Amino acid sequence: MDSWMSKWKCKKCKGYRNIDYEKIEIGTNVYFLVARREVGEERKKPYKNGVVVKKNGDLFHIECRDKIYKINKARVYPMDAPDPLVYNMFGECLCE
Ligand SMILES: [Zn+2]
Repeated sequence: MDSWMSKWKCKKCKGYRNIDYEKIEIGTNVYFLVARREVGEERKKPYKNGVVVKKNGDLFHIECRDKIYKINKARVYPMDAPDPLVYNMFGECLCE
């Protein structure tokens, strides 16, 4: 595991901390999960990179190659966050 991921790891339960969506600001580089039907030929790569251009409640507007995606924040991850697969494999921190 890369050391940068350790800051996401909880020392108590060894789970990975959830993303603090309040800290994702306009202009932040993120990656986000897109629905399969929007991905088309890129079916094997369900994640895209983009920049947050607007936040509207739980919906983040993310610009990716001249296209604006409106993505629920639950599908948005900062670039330095662990891969969503990590949460599936190692679990989320449920402390606090
Ligand atoms: Zn924990």
